[in-house]
Amino acid sequence: MSIPAQASGAPDAEPDGPEGRLRRFATIWSRAIFPSTATSMTRPEFEEHLLPLARELSGILHARPFDAAPAQRVGAALVAAHCTDPDALSSSLGVVDSYLVLYCGGNGPVALSTEDSRARCARIQHALAGGFTQALRERTLAEQEAIARSALAARSQAEQALHATEERFRAVFKDAAIGIGIADLDGNILEINDTLTRMFGGLENHVRSHKVNEWVHPEDSPHVWKYYDELVRGEREHYSVEKPYYRNDGTVLWTNLTVSLLRDPQGRPEYQLALMEDTTERRLLNLRLRYEATHDALTGLPNRTLFFERLEKALAFREDMRFGLCYLDLDGFKAINDSLGHAAGDRLLVEVADRLQSCATAPGEMVARLGGDEFVALTTGPRTQEEVHELAGRILSALATPVRLDGRELTVRGSVGVVEGPSGSRTAADVLRSADITMYRAKAAGGNRFALADAAADARAITRHGLTTALPTALDRGEFFIEYQPLVHLGDGTVHGAEALVRWCHPQHGVLGPDRFIPLAEHTGLIVPLGRWVLEESVRQANFWQERHTDGGPLRINVNLSPTQLHHPGLVAETVDVLERSGLEPGALCLEVTESALIGADDDLLKPLRQLAEMGVDIALDDFGTGYSNLANLRRLPVSVLKLDRSFTQGMQQHPADPVDLKIVEGIVALAHSLDLAVTVEGVETGAQAEQLRRIGCDTAQGWYYARPGAPDRIHSLLLADAV
Ligand code: C2E
Ligand code: MG
Ligand code: MG
Repeated sequence: MSIPAQASGAPDAEPDGPEGRLRRFATIWSRAIFPSTATSMTRPEFEEHLLPLARELSGILHARPFDAAPAQRVGAALVAAHCTDPDALSSSLGVVDSYLVLYCGGNGPVALSTEDSRARCARIQHALAGGFTQALRERTLAEQEAIARSALAARSQAEQALHATEERFRAVFKDAAIGIGIADLDGNILEINDTLTRMFGGLENHVRSHKVNEWVHPEDSPHVWKYYDELVRGEREHYSVEKPYYRNDGTVLWTNLTVSLLRDPQGRPEYQLALMEDTTERRLLNLRLRYEATHDALTGLPNRTLFFERLEKALAFREDMRFGLCYLDLDGFKAINDSLGHAAGDRLLVEVADRLQSCATAPGEMVARLGGDEFVALTTGPRTQEEVHELAGRILSALATPVRLDGRELTVRGSVGVVEGPSGSRTAADVLRSADITMYRAKAAGGNRFALADAAADARAITRHGLTTALPTALDRGEFFIEYQPLVHLGDGTVHGAEALVRWCHPQHGVLGPDRFIPLAEHTGLIVPLGRWVLEESVRQANFWQERHTDGGPLRINVNLSPTQLHHPGLVAETVDVLERSGLEPGALCLEVTESALIGADDDLLKPLRQLAEMGVDIALDDFGTGYSNLANLRRLPVSVLKLDRSFTQGMQQHPADPVDLKIVEGIVALAHSLDLAVTVEGVETGAQAEQLRRIGCDTAQGWYYARPGAPDRIHSLLLADAV
């Protein structure tokens, strides 16, 4: 038998064409959610039904301008197609997440960048989930209304039927879409309809085997049985409650139950009529939605919302009750995230979450993730004064074991702020602010420790929020200034240049170091104008030194660049502009970029640096050794200077210096030199360190041993001393 060659249709219909890919997406989607739908369609019909929805999603993905809102319609369409099971939503989101960009990403007129399409895909998922939930809510309301109406109708019909003929009574019973049961006032079940039997698992005997008042469930609301007694005594006409029952297989059936008292023609109580609506699925969905709204998707821990609920409960006054809170922020997490990538960072957070969870297992204790690398542990009870210290200790020791990730051992450390007090004394926001400030104190004291809140420190504390709001005006008001720290030739001890280090002279808090505000400026984007100001100012200063200090080699100026500045499209043009206006030659400028900002950088990110390097500007890799970078990677970076992090120099403080540390530094220096990189060491505090580093072959050094960062004229006098 031979198969006739199929006439080929439009290119679109080919399996690899856009239409073919779209269909494949619809197939995957239908395979994922069909099992959890209540549709009467067959699988192929259902897939056909999903195809236009898939097309709609693909259209939204490519729309210009982009607008995710229409994806709400798709969510609503799922509900309309009876995909109301919670699994249908989460499976749909999973399919969109994994396959929409894959199969439909290339279907538009203009190709999208991976990043762009991922961002769009995430917003599409949000809109879809929103549409789904909204439609489900509307539908539930509509259903409830319909049920209430039919319940009323059923009740009056049943009453009439009881007084009229047996047959009509049965007809009402049978046709009802909700469960109906009739019992006498002793609780003996007289009649139940098929719907009710089905709701209870399909066995009529099972339902009849118990009297009404024997259907007790541990989760019954407290007043159910009180209402029941009142009704059978004739003191109440009806009641409505949400009530659980056991089905014959032991699973739980949740119902909206309405019970009415039926009286005989003389008005004497005679029967009770129960109308039941099965709410099990809706309840599960609500629980699931509530779970998702209150838990962190990455770690599964309670999230900020749930934590605040618990904290508020713990803070409400109860005699002799106290609360204790540990606020944890990981030390140096950003460097891990930047250098190993977000996926590795995520896995680290999951591991940390697991460990934290095992620290707080007693009743009254909970752990939550507030976001990023911030976690909290809460304990409540009468003895939190001692307990909270133990909790903080447990948290730190849980972090002490290194985490294995991709074959590396990562040391994870954290800073914990501890707040403790009686219930009824403070608000949640107040407690959290205090915990945040205290955590910051622990970090400032070197991290890897916990600090205890104290009211006086709180009052003095500088909050991140306060600083963030004051930042933008600070630049306009000229509150920033620059200190310079000399860079010294290790060979002959001459000053070879200086690093510009910015400070903020805050009107209330005095002089703040860059570690306090650079991360905030990064976060708000203010780093771009601030960085431009630092560059202009320090280049102007360097030019001034050059003019005054004509003998000796050219004096260099080192300026730090933040990751955001690296991404800023104006970087090259502005740097060139600043250099040209000041007259400083490019070779006298060195831009310092942290190691973590460059690890994993692609060519797009490196391009501006490469352009600057080609012009003669030096690029230094700052804080080298903190970012877990791959030494072999150095070759592809446009850097000419390696600045060894302070931690290496610290290792040499002991006497004699740790031989392993020395070997490591020696190795790095040799490698750097073989790659034509100069090596600068940071944090040289003693003459012994300087001597060791000189012997190992480092080129330049910086540190308190030579000079602390200071005003520009200090550098000038150091230069003059050199010249002498
Ligand atoms: P960095 O670039 O690694 O700067 C060296 C830091 O080490 C400076 O801290 C300096 O004061 C300190 N230091 C110098 N010698 C010693 C020593 O012997 N012992 C010890 N323990 N420390 C020493 P500083 O000024 O607090 O700056 C911190 C960081 O803030 C800098 O680290 C840099 O990354 C960033 N930064 C400073 N100014 C700027 C700026 O204008 N723009 C940007 N983006 N970042 C800046
Ligand atoms: Mg630096
Ligand atoms: Mg550094």
